Order: sequence, then C-alpha cells, then structure tokens
Amino acid sequence: MSMITNTSVKRFYVLLCGFEILPRGISVRGGDNRIIIAEPICAYLADTDSGWILFDTGIDAARIHDPALAKEYYTDRGWTTLPVVGPSHSFIGQLEELGIQPEDIKHVVLSHMHADHTGYLKLFRHATIIAQQAEIEYALHTPPLLGNIIEDYSFPDLHWQLIEGDYELAPGVLLLSTPGHTPGHQSALITLPSGERLVLTFDAGDFLENFEQEILPGSSSDDEQALASILRLKSLAAEPSSTLFPLHDPNFIQTAKLAPQYYE
Ligand SMILES: [Zn+2]
Repeated sequence: MSMITNTSVKRFYVLLCGFEILPRGISVRGGDNRIIIAEPICAYLADTDSGWILFDTGIDAARIHDPALAKEYYTDRGWTTLPVVGPSHSFIGQLEELGIQPEDIKHVVLSHMHADHTGYLKLFRHATIIAQQAEIEYALHTPPLLGNIIEDYSFPDLHWQLIEGDYELAPGVLLLSTPGHTPGHQSALITLPSGERLVLTFDAGDFLENFEQEILPGSSSDDEQALASILRLKSLAAEPSSTLFPLHDPNFIQTAKLAPQYYE
C-alpha cells in the first residue's frame, strides 16, 4: 500500500555554492575563535507540480574573484579570509547541469538577506521573490556591515512578495517565520514525495549542534527570538519522519546528496 502524501514537491536538490572560512564564534555563541571552520554555502532547489522553487541564491563569486571587489566587499569590511568558490561550485553551472536556466525559476524564497544567501538574486528579475516584510525593512536600511551586501538586493525591478509569519507557498512547501538571527529570518518545512520531511533551518542555527545543544548563533538581532526559533525547529524535527537539514554544517554537507543527486 502506498502512502498518500499531500505535497507538490517532486524532487529536492542541494546546490553547494562554496565555503566561508569562519571563526567558530560566528556560528556558535561563545565559541573558541581560534578554531577556524570551512562552512558550506548552499542554495536549495525544489521541482514542484507548480514549477521550480529556489531557496536562497548563494554567494556572488565575482565579488570574491575580482581583487578590487574582494577588497571593497570583504577585506575592507573585516573579513580576514575570502570565501572559497571553485568552478564546481558555480551557481549557474549547477543549474545548467540540471538542464535549467534562471528564467525557468519563477519563485525564489529568501531565508534572509545576508550576502551568502543573496548573491545571485540579480538573475531573478523575472521571478517572484518571497521574503518576510521585517527582513526587507531591516536589510534595506542596514549600513554596509560584515553580513549584508545591499547591492545584491536593492534592484528597483525585483518583484517582491512580502509576507508576515508562516506561509504555505505550495502543498509541501511551508515557510516558517523564525526571527532572531535577523529580524525577518525564515525557515522552511519541505514534504518529500516519500513522506519524509526536511526542516530547512538556514541560519536560525548554522550547525546541528545549535539545535542539539540549543546554542544561539554567534550573532543575533534578538537572542530571545533566536532561541525560540531554534526550539521551534528542533521540535518540528522531533516529529515522525522529520529531519533537521542545516545549511552551514561542515559535517552534514559531507553526507548530504548534492545536485544533480536529489531527495525524493
Ligand atoms: Zn546569516
């Protein structure tokens, strides 16, 4: 007997878009900053009955590989080591390998507006960009700090769909308001055709450790909210057939299926 699953998701892909070289304290509150960690930068892609849905857009490699841009956007802003984006991490290259172009993607979900999530938003002027109202208000008025590159997302011709709170984007694609890392951070609960559910945590907590041991992210806009979001995602993952799916965890990524492999 087959299980009947109410989801529009057919396949779920992990795009590995590079690595950030970060002191442990960036991800783990109070962590020892002598420990330097290579943290994966991921975007996700869901093939659904109503088309492709992209979650986050990776990091813009041009700002890393062009020395003048790297100085302006990274070194001068306090980054001691540049992110690593190799040829195999190419955002466009991974889409091409799946046989699609940015134009084929009509919905882009942004977890939040830090630069390792907004890199290729510029390729999606044709799409609907779904973000929390609180995040865009914050991100458009934040000074040029370590985390945000306002030039990534300040195009006047982007089509925003601003939401407040949880939102069912499609059957099996539930966006979850999880503020705290930033004011409008959101996560997602994906139901696969198998009935398995992936709890996409994005930056609510970078590592599995943040959830297992309930440790705050290194920085937050609101510690109380950040802890509540960690607990919420942890309890969702404790439900049957549900798994935490962290974005920046350097151990988890080594066992994840990477595109063109997929979850179903
Ligand atoms: Zn972040």
